[in-house]
Amino acid sequence: MSKPPTTSDIQAVGNVKLLEKYGLNANDAILAEEKHKGLYEDLLNNYDAKLIAGGAAQNTARGAQYILPASSVLYIGCVGQDKYAEILRAAVDREGVHAEYRVDASQPTGRCGVIITDHNRSMCTDLAAANHYKLDHMKQPEIWELVEAASVYYVGGYHLTVCVPAIMALAEKAAEANKVWEEPSHPSLSPFIASCHNQLTPLPSGRQIFALSLSAPFIPQFFKDQLDGTAPYWDYVVGNETEALAYAQAHNLNTTSIPVIARHLADLPKKNTLRRRTAIITQGTDPTIVAVGGEDGVRSFPVRGVGKSEINDTNGAGDAFAGGLLAGIVEGKGLELSVDMGHWLASLSIRELGPS
Ligand code: ADP
Ligand code: MG
Ligand code: MG
Repeated sequence: MSKPPTTSDIQAVGNVKLLEKYGLNANDAILAEEKHKGLYEDLLNNYDAKLIAGGAAQNTARGAQYILPASSVLYIGCVGQDKYAEILRAAVDREGVHAEYRVDASQPTGRCGVIITDHNRSMCTDLAAANHYKLDHMKQPEIWELVEAASVYYVGGYHLTVCVPAIMALAEKAAEANKVWEEPSHPSLSPFIASCHNQLTPLPSGRQIFALSLSAPFIPQFFKDQLDGTAPYWDYVVGNETEALAYAQAHNLNTTSIPVIARHLADLPKKNTLRRRTAIITQGTDPTIVAVGGEDGVRSFPVRGVGKSEINDTNGAGDAFAGGLLAGIVEGKGLELSVDMGHWLASLSIRELGPS
């Protein structure tokens, strides 16, 4: 499981009374309604809550930065003008992630209330500002310059519920840059093209890879058209097994086989044909299934075992996995090692409470 975009997590050990007060189940993952709006201050004032920078893609960004050299990661999202925004800024600053937030003064920063009872956690998210990202923010010259300088774009699927035009701008940018490779007038690049199958770096600057995470089953279920619009641009698509199954169901694939679904994802039509697509499906403790476009069958990579007693919080494991994977891609580590870097970062993350 992972969390919606650009939120500040307010996490506390609670009790049944607190759950009942807000009509929550012990293991909910829901969007806040009016009746939940008081939960956040309640957690802070009465339950010794910890404030943690949250948000699925933001955690992936922090994870990738943890591995990469300083100032490697730019994160873009939307916050309000409040103390929660300050918490997010402080957290990403501390970790060396360069954040460019659109500030929407009319909205509070997105918040995710997390109530822990025994081994259960109930998450209640008020998206608020996180829902108000706008393309014109990204298209400001000083920000677009940073976008153009990046080598890998990663979009959390949750953002398909927020601002599809911003996603498509990144997708088009990546595909447009790739077209340069087709031109025979750049002979110096051809050796690279010839070996570009999963040898993704050294990337000539200004040529981007586009990666997307499915993020949650409800994305393929209820945002199918938006998701499908981005599919031709995926160089990498990442998800867990429940998201893969939801994709298969929404697209009538008539299968519950993760390898078959991964193959399907890898073989979908692709805008840039110079780089094959890689589809990566994690399955918790089971091996990660990887399908590479044009290959037969799939590859299977075992995860790194973590003893039961060492596990603190498997929430956000997939986001950490994506962070490690992306760091590997950025550093040109090749597929097998990049996936293992994902497994490694995920194994670190589940030993900690909260996406530390
Ligand atoms: P999500 O968090 O999106 O549901 P998964 O549950 O598939 O994603 O976890 C992503 C990765 O995190 C796995 O591939 C694995 O490397 C690691 N992981 C998750 N749960 C465990 C666990 N209980 N023990 C060891 N590794 C785990
Ligand atoms: Mg899982
Ligand atoms: Mg996930």
